[in-house]
Amino acid sequence: MITIKSKSEIELMKEACKLTGLLYKELEKHIKPGISTYELDKIAEKFMRAHGASPAQKGYNPEIKGVPPFPCAICASINDEVIHGIPSKRAILKEGDILSIDTVVYKNGFNGDAARTFIVGKSKSKEDERLLEITKQAFFEGIKYAIKGNRVGDISHAIGQFVEKNGYSVVREFQGHGIGRQMHEDPGIPNYGKAGKGARLEPGMTLAIEPMVIMGKPDILELDDGWTIITEDGTPAAHYENTILITEKEPEILTLL
Ligand code: MG
Repeated sequence: MITIKSKSEIELMKEACKLTGLLYKELEKHIKPGISTYELDKIAEKFMRAHGASPAQKGYNPEIKGVPPFPCAICASINDEVIHGIPSKRAILKEGDILSIDTVVYKNGFNGDAARTFIVGKSKSKEDERLLEITKQAFFEGIKYAIKGNRVGDISHAIGQFVEKNGYSVVREFQGHGIGRQMHEDPGIPNYGKAGKGARLEPGMTLAIEPMVIMGKPDILELDDGWTIITEDGTPAAHYENTILITEKEPEILTLL
């Protein structure tokens, strides 16, 4: 079931989403060679709690047999790790690493979900920089279609086409989603698909749109920790996500300051 948020619910949700945006400004200051993803996770959780919020991902239990609850406030995925990397003291950032962070801030009963990909220090290649740019741009290509009366498939199609036209692959096993009181709500929003298909967009819907892009082939593997997703061919990946609101006109991006 797709939830339509009331005006007052949207106001509450905007607070959670704004905090997510602010959190990235804070994290950005600390993303340098030598820091561990464990330390970044601690900074993120402290920031959330200092603002009367909590990390929605920490303790998240997907209720899949054998998969432990997610232990941290952020997902931190480095280079060929695509998504759901678990922060660790051993994961110390190096110059030129590609770091994707995904986090959900919970406040006032609502969730704000966003992901960003950073290059640590100086980038190793122009191709790495281009991967980040195309991934971010794919989000903006997608939300051009996040208009009342359009369908979810219009967003999916635009993202997938843009990424593939630029020579990269989208991850097919994971997707964007509705969001609100729950971290994951209907509808699912794949990063590929057919225009004109899927649920119709209505004002008051809040959606997390999140291109996950691989430089090489689209195939992925899951590590034994039950969470971390890596590329099968070892090429790097990037992730860019915002929570948006469907309105009578243009969509509003709630997690971008
Ligand atoms: Mg997310």
